[in-house]
Amino acid sequence: MNTDFILQAAEAVNAAILAHEPEIESLDRAIGDGDHFINMKRGCATVAAMRAELAELSPDAALQKVGMKLLSTIGGASGPLIGSFFIAMGKAGKEAETLPQIAAAFAAGVEAIKLRGKADVGEKTMLDVLIPVAQTFTRLANEGCARDELLRTIKREAEQGVLATRDMIATKGRAAFLGERAVGHIDPGAKSSQVIICAVCDLALV
Ligand code: ADP
Ligand code: MG
Repeated sequence: MNTDFILQAAEAVNAAILAHEPEIESLDRAIGDGDHFINMKRGCATVAAMRAELAELSPDAALQKVGMKLLSTIGGASGPLIGSFFIAMGKAGKEAETLPQIAAAFAAGVEAIKLRGKADVGEKTMLDVLIPVAQTFTRLANEGCARDELLRTIKREAEQGVLATRDMIATKGRAAFLGERAVGHIDPGAKSSQVIICAVCDLALV
């Protein structure tokens, strides 16, 4: 990891989230309260405004700083979850240089979301993308998989994860109040997670 890549990733994520506005917006209108796109957009703008300050930091310190800021600025259920992700990934990512080390840091971030949200795979949340991605990332990195193949496989995993939320009944978050009525709709947080993961993978693939 290096800080320059993190700054480039922040820009790529911002562009990707903005490009998916109609989709993310309508998903949260269907099974949430319609604010998820606004929350994500605010998070991206917050990180963009930190650019100069982050550029001075080591990658792990930059991730932790981003996480602490996002905790208080994104809002909603997703703010504390996403904030915890970056704080935990930063803490676990000191000296993360190799793919297995970066995968371990990412997995620590996902674990923090699980703990904070008391949720797991199969509950129709962002974790239905993040957990399979963390597992595949860790496994392929430890197997010594070639970088580009690893990145392409992670993108596919994220796409499968987001689609899998369509047929689930939500047991966490606002959609849980809808019971069967949420079936047939993709989870907005899973969609934005997939958009973010794909944007970062594409950046690393270039
Ligand atoms: P809010 O639900 O407060 O309106 P957002 O709309 O920003 O917040 O985020 C909603 C997303 O947060 C959901 O689509 C889901 O992916 C995710 N989410 C909600 N609760 C949890 C939880 N307990 N664990 C993991 N993810 C969750
Ligand atoms: Mg919402």
